[in-house]
Amino acid sequence: MTADISCDILVIGGGIAGLSLAAEVASRMAAAPQTRGSGGVVVLVEAEPALGYHTSSRSARQLIPSYGPPVIQDLTLRTLALIRAAEADLPEPVLAPRSFLLIGDDESVRDRASAHMHPVMPAEALGLAPELRPEAFSAAGLDNTSVACNTDALLDYHRERLTAAGGRIVTGRRVQAAVRVGDPGAQRWEAAADGLRFEAPVVVNAAGAWADIVAETFGARPQGLTPYRRTAAVVDVERPLDAGAPMVADAGDRFYYRPEGSQVLISPSEREPSVAEDSRPRDTDVQALVELVNSVTTMGITGVARAWTGLRTETPDGLPAVGWDPAVPGFFWLAGQGGYGFQTSSAVAELAAGILLAEDVENGAREALSPARDRV
Ligand SMILES: Cc1cc2nc3c(=O)[nH]c(=O)nc-3n(C[C@H](O)[C@H](O)[C@H](O)COP(=O)(O)OP(=O)(O)OC[C@H]3O[C@@H](n4cnc5c(N)ncnc54)[C@H](O)[C@@H]3O)c2cc1C
Repeated sequence: MTADISCDILVIGGGIAGLSLAAEVASRMAAAPQTRGSGGVVVLVEAEPALGYHTSSRSARQLIPSYGPPVIQDLTLRTLALIRAAEADLPEPVLAPRSFLLIGDDESVRDRASAHMHPVMPAEALGLAPELRPEAFSAAGLDNTSVACNTDALLDYHRERLTAAGGRIVTGRRVQAAVRVGDPGAQRWEAAADGLRFEAPVVVNAAGAWADIVAETFGARPQGLTPYRRTAAVVDVERPLDAGAPMVADAGDRFYYRPEGSQVLISPSEREPSVAEDSRPRDTDVQALVELVNSVTTMGITGVARAWTGLRTETPDGLPAVGWDPAVPGFFWLAGQGGYGFQTSSAVAELAAGILLAEDVENGAREALSPARDRV
């Protein structure tokens, strides 16, 4: 078959994972042209008409260094450093201060303790979040390193970096079939996507909730990914929170909330398995959440302005799968970001680009995230 588009690396998926990796690897290739093959740079293909349509436009937009296991915490700190360095060249900052306050009982707060979170007395927690009803919690922890993230600006930044480095973006085409062709040593993928034919020696699977389905298309063994529903809503309140108020989260994962202008973003923190789909919120879930948040705070929710549901896709051990497939040549995983997709994005893109370009990658996360790792 004759390809419509030939490239060196074909990235499947235009969420934060695919975009940040595509931008990083394209920038490195542009800076070192000897790494480019004959086909020409990096192409990103996205099934939806717009980039970031699925989970990447449905997050809570908070980066929390105390959240997740140690490898995730390290990747989060590295991502913060990389975004801060990039902000110097951006018209507006991507990050803004917003601390993270964890509340619950002694045991549940202690279970989530980390180097980036320090315990605070309930009275201090009430000073930071005066809308909390004192009887709603008995212990609290504060992460002052946590920040709010303008995720739209971050996606734009990566999109612009990708195109500035000569990369190309194709939207509205779903990759549905693939075959490995060519002589040994010069093999490449031919992939078909809604009438468009791509050719590339390397394919990156950044397909979010669809990543295991995409893997099967390429003959690779699935990672055992599960997409989990998570809902959020923006609500009107009688007593708006202070603009500088922290994100408040229940250590028992029953809810979290944070200011959203004069409104409040709330979430039930649910983790319900789903198929890969364009997920939608359920009125009953949102109503139950409103009642719960009204019972633990005095903000006084008066109405729901909008609600949405996204899929947080996890591997069985909860860590992303980043690296070459152990059995299928030319097939690279960038999946399973779960609830950490933004907060680990730049560091994971840095790691993935290094592996893809066969650079010396000295990164403790490499083994931990390897798609070939042993899982319990
Ligand atoms: C309610 C909620 C709150 C969250 N809050 C936070 C937070 O505060 N901080 C944080 O770091 N993370 C948060 N997350 C998690 C974060 O949003 C995700 O980890 C991240 O967006 C995943 O990005 P992704 O690129 O892997 O997936 P996606 O954004 O879903 O992108 C995958 C893309 O692949 C495309 N695709 C699939 N199959 C194909 C195909 N065959 N061909 C072409 N394209 C294909 C899809 O259309 C999709 O656009 C939250 C998630 C939810 C749902």
